[in-house]
Amino acid sequence: MGREVKDVTKHPFLKPSVMSFKATFDAAWQEDTKELGRAWSPYLEDEINRFNHIHRSPEDLAAKVKLLRKLSHKTGACFQRCVGWDSLNTLHIVTTLMAKKGKTEPRERFVEYLKYVQKNDLALAGAMTDAKGVRNLKPSQQPNKNAYLRITEVTKDGIYVSGAKANITGVAATEEMVVLPTRAMGPEDKDYAVAFAIPTDTEGVKIVVGRQLNDARRMEEGEIDGLPYFYNHEGLVIFDNVFVPMNRVFLAGEWEYTGTLVEIFSAYHRQGYGGCKAGLGDVIIGASADLAKQIGVEKASHVQDKLTEMIFLTETMYSAGIAASLNAVKMCDNCWWVNPMHANVTKHLVARFPSQIAQLSIDLAGGIVGTAPSEWDLKNPKLKEYISRYLQGAEDFTAEDRLRMVRLVENVSMGVAFQIESVHGAGSPAAQRIMFSRLYDLNFAQEVAKSLAGRKSSVKFTPKAEPWRESQSETEAKEA
Ligand code: SF4
Ligand code: FE
Repeated sequence: MGREVKDVTKHPFLKPSVMSFKATFDAAWQEDTKELGRAWSPYLEDEINRFNHIHRSPEDLAAKVKLLRKLSHKTGACFQRCVGWDSLNTLHIVTTLMAKKGKTEPRERFVEYLKYVQKNDLALAGAMTDAKGVRNLKPSQQPNKNAYLRITEVTKDGIYVSGAKANITGVAATEEMVVLPTRAMGPEDKDYAVAFAIPTDTEGVKIVVGRQLNDARRMEEGEIDGLPYFYNHEGLVIFDNVFVPMNRVFLAGEWEYTGTLVEIFSAYHRQGYGGCKAGLGDVIIGASADLAKQIGVEKASHVQDKLTEMIFLTETMYSAGIAASLNAVKMCDNCWWVNPMHANVTKHLVARFPSQIAQLSIDLAGGIVGTAPSEWDLKNPKLKEYISRYLQGAEDFTAEDRLRMVRLVENVSMGVAFQIESVHGAGSPAAQRIMFSRLYDLNFAQEVAKSLAGRKSSVKFTPKAEPWRESQSETEAKEA
């Protein structure tokens, strides 16, 4: 809002976001979450916070989805730390693939970095989406040479980068950021094929925090209207000739790994949405059921029916996330990727269902969700008695109970985390549809149908090769 922030932990605009991050640290210590919140690191030979863990089994991946669902119950918001986590797992696989092809330094640097992150329990941002400029032009064809983050200079000690990353979740509250390329690139784009990690307060980095619906309520210091602890934030991260030391550089010009990297990262993050968005679904279902009780309609059949539909939508998102985890793909010794088809399905459900859940919650909450008086009116001695009398429904509940629940429905079901992020986070819906057609074996399905219909088959029953097993060829990169 035009002003420099000196301390993100104290500024009222960002403090709620910091508090959501806090939940990810607390998860490793609180009784109800610590089993999910911790994991064993073979790199440190010690227990670590799961948010910095490299998944070593399908069960690890399922634990991620379960943990995210539980954390949504504690925050009612996006807790912002999973993008950095997914970036670590992505770089682990990509640098391993590079090492298998003889390029070993990136993996050595990455493992050192991973140990540092795990040991210090650092909160990382994952910075992937570039400014992108003209969407139908490749990075090297852009009129603005910095529309995609690029390497401007290489020295023996490191690289210099300029450009910007947009919509970066939680970034102002993180200790470090992991920067990844946002799309598949060809040889002409090699200056843009760059991945690295730096402290968030590195010289030359500027973060412009974006606005959200109702964000000014955070500045009011209320305890009902703004739900002071439950928000995420996104930022535009500007890199103005930023130096990255060589021991933090994981990709610098290796364009042939960019397509694989993007595919691996996006599937990891799409899987996670089955957990966090289902958790937000639980919050909204609970609030809607409570509000129905508050006005005495909880037994009405249409209310029951709407709650049932919300349960179905929520559990469907979660089931897909669990399927993406348990049908995981083994990528190296003790390293597992999600099932890419099921992860993309998960995110596609998440792009659709939260708006349906929100619509049902508005239906159940009643018009008051758009018209409720402010908490300051409820606290005003001249109005308190009237508002208390006229906002109250069933005798067991107070006007404040109703206002609190209405605000919860308003803030969670219509907030950025449940609506906008559900559509565009981890890639917009069109990106998932592209993946469905790439991953689904339509020829194979036709052969199955022909066989059952008694038609002679011309093609053998050979399932499609798994495209993620090899880094892409030059031709594939061009097509991408
Ligand atoms: Fe984590 Fe979900 Fe937020 Fe992504 S949208 S950072 S998976 S809480
Ligand atoms: Fe996200």
